[in-house]
Amino acid sequence: MESIQVHDKTFVPYLKDAEIQEIVKATALKIYEDYKDETPIFVGVLNGVIMFFSDLLKHYPGSCEIAFIQMSSYVGTESTGIVYQKMELTKDIKDRHIILVEDIVDTGNTVESLFKYFTETQRPKSVKLASFLLKPEVYKKDFKLDYIGKEIPNKFVLGYGLDYDELGRNLPNLYQLEEGQINH
Ligand code: 5GP
Repeated sequence: MESIQVHDKTFVPYLKDAEIQEIVKATALKIYEDYKDETPIFVGVLNGVIMFFSDLLKHYPGSCEIAFIQMSSYVGTESTGIVYQKMELTKDIKDRHIILVEDIVDTGNTVESLFKYFTETQRPKSVKLASFLLKPEVYKKDFKLDYIGKEIPNKFVLGYGLDYDELGRNLPNLYQLEEGQINH
């Protein structure tokens, strides 16, 4: 595996596709242990989750359904300056078991907003969270992260769905920002 250049940044190889698949398979089987007798809905958080979501489903041996959610932040009226989260969910999930699927948890702000949105407005039966990656040095919330593929250091990663300035999502392997370069 060779380093990758995106704009002014260099990214070095971090996890190969085969290692990623091992992690994803283990995560899928852990989820299955808990949902064997249910048909949960896996809800993918777009866009970064695409690769992990697809691989997770391929390794999941049980019955399940899927849905997607897209979040976008926008600043409210000029006077308040408050940032609102707009959520677009593709399926009715009332009274269903939900597994929220994220690419990476960093500060935890995103999963917190999502969890709040689901529990307060969508009335699912239960909500758990699965994330491919977690940066434990940065994570500041008390919210329980139920299924984590891999804990990684606080360095910006690229590939396998994760972008830098919208580029690199299509890379099958995962890369890390080269040592000495400023984190995004
Ligand atoms: P949080 O709300 O947990 O701070 O951040 C979550 C979002 O930030 C992720 O869904 C992802 O879009 C972005 N993010 C956080 N860390 C990284 C990273 O290392 N690489 C990339 N490409 N995106 C990241």
